[in-house]
Amino acid sequence: MRRTKIVATLGPASTADEVVLGLVDAGVDVFRISFAHGDIESNIARLRRVRDLAPNVALMVDIPGPKIRSGSFGTLPIYLTVGDVIEIIEGFDQSSTASRIVVEREGVLHLLRLGDQVHIGDGGLSLEITEIGSTTKARVTSGGAVMGKPGLSLPSSLVHETLPTADDRERLLALQHEDFQILAVSFVRSAIDMVSTREVLARNDVMMMAKIETPEGIDNLEEILKVSDSIMVARGDLGVRMPIEEVPHLQKRIVRDSVRFAAPVVVATQMLESMTHAQVPTRAEVTDVANAVLDGASAVMLSGETAIGENPIEVVRAMDRIVRKAEEAFNYEGWGADLGVQEITGNSNPAFRITAAMSGAAWRAAMEEHASVIVACTRSGATARAISRFRPPMSILAITNLPTTALQLRSSWGVDDVLVSIATDMDSLVPVALHHLQQRGAVHSGDVIVLMAGSAGSAASTTDTVRMVIIP
Ligand code: PEP
Repeated sequence: MRRTKIVATLGPASTADEVVLGLVDAGVDVFRISFAHGDIESNIARLRRVRDLAPNVALMVDIPGPKIRSGSFGTLPIYLTVGDVIEIIEGFDQSSTASRIVVEREGVLHLLRLGDQVHIGDGGLSLEITEIGSTTKARVTSGGAVMGKPGLSLPSSLVHETLPTADDRERLLALQHEDFQILAVSFVRSAIDMVSTREVLARNDVMMMAKIETPEGIDNLEEILKVSDSIMVARGDLGVRMPIEEVPHLQKRIVRDSVRFAAPVVVATQMLESMTHAQVPTRAEVTDVANAVLDGASAVMLSGETAIGENPIEVVRAMDRIVRKAEEAFNYEGWGADLGVQEITGNSNPAFRITAAMSGAAWRAAMEEHASVIVACTRSGATARAISRFRPPMSILAITNLPTTALQLRSSWGVDDVLVSIATDMDSLVPVALHHLQQRGAVHSGDVIVLMAGSAGSAASTTDTVRMVIIP
């Protein structure tokens, strides 16, 4: 089994049923639907369609936050050349061209100053404001091809909106009764952004993922982690708002801190970018994906590659191969030893602290006895995430009676899941676990397995027992 999960973004290139099914076959664990593109109704229609087609894949909805988009450049590349002077206007439902960029937000142009930098998309193209007043003009300082509706990054002083934005609220209300498992929140700067967004969504069955893509998000990472369930290293916007050479180091830090909090962490953006058009990735991209695995990422994400690319299924196959190869070189022993059996920082809930401590005991026992599997009996998924943070070399099987938990665990490193009909305590878990492990051919006579569960009569949501069993 591949340990690092794959997230694929859906878009026009992956609308057809056979493409969605092909992506599942190729190994996608989580589909992302970005509500930054298209209208709410068509995104919800896509969500429902994919839910029906691929019931075993987790669905992530991504809300755009204060991201400003340009009017569409169309489906064929338009080239912006260094030195070109381009007019910038505000408007909606109008196309952008090589001589005019439409900003889909009212009231932002008058805030621009001469010399301000405007970045297009994930940072490859930039402009410098050269004229303000009755018309706004900018000169291209870094050129290239542009298509679709890329994001526009205006100076950060322009986007001091708090979350959720009015647009996000509208999306959250429309999503109130929809079947999805993860909500990715863009441009999270502080814990309060996550708390406020969770309040508006008003659902406790959705895993909240904070996208870290601003300097404030980096500064406040620890407080954001305390109120989030999972994290995305959103390298596109991060590399626009921070010096680009800092991105690899920030990635390592965000991954490390997230794992310390037992939070699944997704490394995203431009991972196999050239495969949007090319048949094979560049050497640098292959190395980037492998390094994300070695950094300890829970999942790696594809964006344009599967949303607008020419070969969505081939890209997932390539990513699957690169990840599996990198996992052969992952330092499993070193990772767990470095992490140690420290508490999961920031969680003061006593039941959870017991679960975290027990996961340390389970990891140590499994390592010492070279167990073949660690079984985690889990309702919320917390026990499985707690053991996953040690990145153990043996498989992790999560047994749960909640379909939502099973799907949310598709974003957790190394966790395989089994859905059972009733919640189990340790006494009833052993036969259930043995049955499923034997059915999967995951154990042989003489193997040692480690099980984690609550004991009969233990406080709700507490994993207070670790047991070791020799397979008869
Ligand atoms: C990013 O900026 O890296 C990112 C993942 O955000 P989005 O793709 O939603 O723009």
